[in-house]
Amino acid sequence: MIDDHRPTWALAIHGGAGAGRQERGAEDLETEIRQVLSAVLADGAAGLATGGTSLDAVEQAVRRLEDSPLFNAGRGAVYDARGEHVLEASIMDGRRLEAGAVAGLRTVKNPISLARLVMERSPHVFLDGEGALAFGEAHGVERVDAQWFDTPRRRRALEEAKRIEAGGKAPLGAAPPETGTVGAVALDLHGNVAAATSTGGLTNKAPGRIGDSPIIGAGTFASNDSCAVSCSGQGECFVRATIARDVAALMEYVGMSVEAAAKEAIRGRLARVRGEGGLIAVDREGRVAFAFNTAVMLRGCVTSTDAPRVALYADR
Ligand code: ASP
Repeated sequence: MIDDHRPTWALAIHGGAGAGRQERGAEDLETEIRQVLSAVLADGAAGLATGGTSLDAVEQAVRRLEDSPLFNAGRGAVYDARGEHVLEASIMDGRRLEAGAVAGLRTVKNPISLARLVMERSPHVFLDGEGALAFGEAHGVERVDAQWFDTPRRRRALEEAKRIEAGGKAPLGAAPPETGTVGAVALDLHGNVAAATSTGGLTNKAPGRIGDSPIIGAGTFASNDSCAVSCSGQGECFVRATIARDVAALMEYVGMSVEAAAKEAIRGRLARVRGEGGLIAVDREGRVAFAFNTAVMLRGCVTSTDAPRVALYADR
């Protein structure tokens, strides 16, 4: 018998887990964030409901979030210690366990689409810096001037980080991350899951630093054997605890539900390395899970059976 209540497709998105610092105009920002997340869910739902693939859904959702200055990915990327933007992203296809990742990008408008090209058009998984750019140019990826990523809000965040550093307080990694990294996970009508994550990394990060977002198994993972996962938070901790793969492994080897596995990865594994952050996940039954140990995680989901929901805090 077919269970009419089981979702046949599902999409979850995030705009990062973090501290949710008080900024000027924070309420207006919240309203705008909710609007963008809702619009992205609506478009994603339209595609998935008409047979679109989970891979297209996660790429498109992340592209939309990269194009918004509100999030720390693409247009709204944070500044590194030299006052530059260095972007990274990854994508994974749960059907074939194929993946693509990029890092060290300064002028690629949508890093997630370059990650997908690496997955689909190269024999490799991870390309960095000049090589990634050359590969992207050869495949017609859209470029912008480095100034495209300049925003006053992220500039202020860098200035504040420099002030704190000069005062000898809160070394990078000890302070809770800001929200803004973006990600998406989806299940499509064909029964396939996919995941995508994109980020500018951490404000004031050292030149050359790479976080978890472009690392398969740390910030992103997808397998039809279990689920699709996208993470956000203190990247070093997510790498050390291989959080994204752990959620899938707990389902595959221990038989946990996606909700239990997501919770265990954050409350157990991530806590073990004293990390802060969160994740979104979806399994092949269309069950969506959110787990985070930060004050804020910008997020939303929609399925074939549930209306779109958007939330920023634990309870709203
Ligand atoms: N995980 C990202 C990084 O460490 C940052 C974030 O999610 O806020 O690069």
